[in-house]
Amino acid sequence: MKGQGGASSAKTDAWRELDVEGRLAHALLKGITDHVEEDVEAARHEYDTSLEIIEGPLMRGMQTVGDLFGEGKMFLPQVVKSARVMKKAVGYLLPYMEEERKAQGAEQTKRGKVLLATVKGDVHDIGKNIVGVVLGCNGYEVVDIGVMVPCATIIDKARTEQVDVVGLSGLITPSLDEMVQVAKEFEHEKIGVPLLIGGATTSARHTAVKIAPVYSGDVVHVTDASRAAGVVENLLNPAHREAFVSANRAAQARDVENFQKRQQATLVPYATAVANRWTTDWSVAEIATPEFLGVRPLPKVPLADLVPFIDWSPFFMAWELKGKYPLILEDPTVGTEARKLFDDARRMLDEIVAQESLEARGVYGFFPANSEGDDILLYTDDERKTESGRVHTLRQQWERRGQSTFHALADFIAPTSSGRKDYLGAFACTAGHGCAEIAARHDRDHDDYNSIMVKALADRLAEAFAEWLHKRARDDWGFGKSEGLDNEALIAEGYRGIRPAPGYPACPDHTEKPALFALLGATEAAGMNLTESFAMTPAASVCGLYFGHPESRYFAVDRITRDQVEDYAARKGMPVADVERWLAPNLGYDP
Ligand code: SAH
Repeated sequence: MKGQGGASSAKTDAWRELDVEGRLAHALLKGITDHVEEDVEAARHEYDTSLEIIEGPLMRGMQTVGDLFGEGKMFLPQVVKSARVMKKAVGYLLPYMEEERKAQGAEQTKRGKVLLATVKGDVHDIGKNIVGVVLGCNGYEVVDIGVMVPCATIIDKARTEQVDVVGLSGLITPSLDEMVQVAKEFEHEKIGVPLLIGGATTSARHTAVKIAPVYSGDVVHVTDASRAAGVVENLLNPAHREAFVSANRAAQARDVENFQKRQQATLVPYATAVANRWTTDWSVAEIATPEFLGVRPLPKVPLADLVPFIDWSPFFMAWELKGKYPLILEDPTVGTEARKLFDDARRMLDEIVAQESLEARGVYGFFPANSEGDDILLYTDDERKTESGRVHTLRQQWERRGQSTFHALADFIAPTSSGRKDYLGAFACTAGHGCAEIAARHDRDHDDYNSIMVKALADRLAEAFAEWLHKRARDDWGFGKSEGLDNEALIAEGYRGIRPAPGYPACPDHTEKPALFALLGATEAAGMNLTESFAMTPAASVCGLYFGHPESRYFAVDRITRDQVEDYAARKGMPVADVERWLAPNLGYDP
């Protein structure tokens, strides 16, 4: 069965001698698009209608692919390539089908119809697109209405398209709350169909605690794309539905119980956390002075410079292949597919680099800074007479075993009272300009594989850019010049200092991003923007702060109490209710 790399062309082409069903089956299984149109055209001479070709050899082939995937014998990249063959075949047949439909009113039979959307304010869609492909492979009709979809549109489409299931996707934490709003509206509008919840920050627990209770229909969290088909099958098949739904509800009841237990676990009062902040003897603390102050926009960075900084492990994760790079390439289970995927990725990357078809733009800077309580004050210049802005940080209040300090990022900057001159760095960078256009071109060509691939590569380049830029910042700071780290050591963050990113555990508040963008002039300098939920556009973008203190480190703020929220809201000049909405996943109480 295995087409090994060195096979003679006679052997690799032997399948061309099969009958048309055999050829289509082989092309689908192997994901070969080269002869699709020719073979489908041949099939048209053997079958009465296009529908019979689709429901016969094509659907049978995809069924095999779906089954093998379900059994763990095929992996996601192969499935997406098989789906590409299917889509191209269907695309070729489409005009004929239109004619046939007009002639006889035939409708294609499908297992069920699923609406997919990335919620309002969010632009990330790799996961959603993968789910769409997987469902399509399994015979479901997928209506994908894209990214940043307002609730009203989702409801409208769910109705007009008469879908059986709606899948909501999102990556950033504000999308969690948006999903709650959508579920509430589904209840209000009595939509009734099951809701699937998926995406990086979603969780079974959040789904159980926040989403399921506001909607009387079924709400199911889908941990990864490979499970989507099984979930939809269970929801729609009358033979399985009842057992599945009651197991799902039972699991959610357990999640709610565990959540409530956890909510009762003690958080120290905010004042106690502040009193037990992390600190150091600032009079002797090592503070590095950066080579320049203010903002420095970068001239367009050649992509070739960024490639060596790529961390490939998350790339394989995006394609749901488990393992760390480079070991994954030799993995006994996924190694073969990982190598093929990596070859395809390198080929596309080479092309992108050669043609500069993505554009890397960024900006960074250093600012005179001192901390005051849990805020970091920024000054217009090193005289430190005029404040130019503030970074508001959040403090841990949860008790960790054997630890009596409570961290906030402000702790890593010398306090005003120390009399020391300290500095904060900031950056924003993107490798996403041009990505949407390339992806759209592949989408028009029914090519999900390359559409997903270019987005995954743009993400990798953006992260590589952040690594590259951080290296440069450490050089400007001085202490980076002698660090001598290879890429592996950079990925392991073996350098001095950190670059926490808003929305991540040490600084979970996305509403700090507009000030950061303004400070850097990220829109003018790098063409970057924020959505209403503070997702960055282009999607392949990174931003954050640089801390240079040798003891600065990442931590998780996690849950916080009302007294901190009130203090924080006052410092930010924001209504408490707004802060509670944006920090909903971090609240250790029920507002
Ligand atoms: N090599 C990885 C880098 C991204 S993940 C990649 O290519 O995908 C690591 C980054 O996430 C850090 O550099 C930092 O920007 C952010 N990060 C990780 N943990 C964090 C935390 N607890 N708080 C804030 N930011 C964090």
